[in-house]
Amino acid sequence: MKPAAVLTDLDGTLLEHGGVLGAEARAAIARLRGLGIPVVPLTSKTEVELRTLLAELDSGGVGSFENGAGIVSPSGVALSEKAIPLARLAGHLEELARSAKLALTSALALPVAEIRRITGLPEAKVPAMLARGFGLPFLAPEGAGPALEAAASGLPGVRLTRGGQFWHLSGAHGKEDALDLLVATGAAARPFAGFGDAPNDAGFLARCDVAVLLPRAAGGVDPALAAAVPGARVAPFPTGRGWAAALDELLEEEA
Ligand SMILES: [Mg+2]
Repeated sequence: MKPAAVLTDLDGTLLEHGGVLGAEARAAIARLRGLGIPVVPLTSKTEVELRTLLAELDSGGVGSFENGAGIVSPSGVALSEKAIPLARLAGHLEELARSAKLALTSALALPVAEIRRITGLPEAKVPAMLARGFGLPFLAPEGAGPALEAAASGLPGVRLTRGGQFWHLSGAHGKEDALDLLVATGAAARPFAGFGDAPNDAGFLARCDVAVLLPRAAGGVDPALAAAVPGARVAPFPTGRGWAAALDELLEEEA
């Protein structure tokens, strides 16, 4: 199969721990570049982080930031109409803490050392991680999920998601909203091959023509993700090595 674009999550999918692009992933991206197939990251990362990575990938310059809040392409930025600016989200986080009676900590209030411990990011990459326009990462106490979800259901147009150790508040957009923006602006075309490793990838993977799930480092695909994308393939290894192997297999099927 020859996809017209490869849509991919970054953390836990294309990148190694610490946000690094591994050798196998680099080789696979070079192969795609030779075939004229762009790699389109769909990430919860910020626009600043995305732009840095797009420059490193050198693979079409198209991607989506902050879980479908908007897309970047050579012709500019297009925002989802569901995106909510940060200042309004900070107000919603206070409402959540009050109504769920929980101590919630905005990532913007955490010491850099704590963010580095949680994310594995080098210090130089932390400011870009915090430069959020349309999403607010925060920490909640262990076991807070049900109370948080109940409280968030009272905030219309606001979505509560979990990615790694952080919870996120954002507008009710997901990575799947990026597909509409990509197609509407002509920034990418079908057929799409999609790669992801977590439940927040399920929406876009379900709308790709071929979906590949990356197993977790501890082994096995996230059960919620597997259940949400039943027709998906599973990569043979976690992160970039598995991404590259599954991609090679997909490209061989063309013959
Ligand atoms: Mg991921």
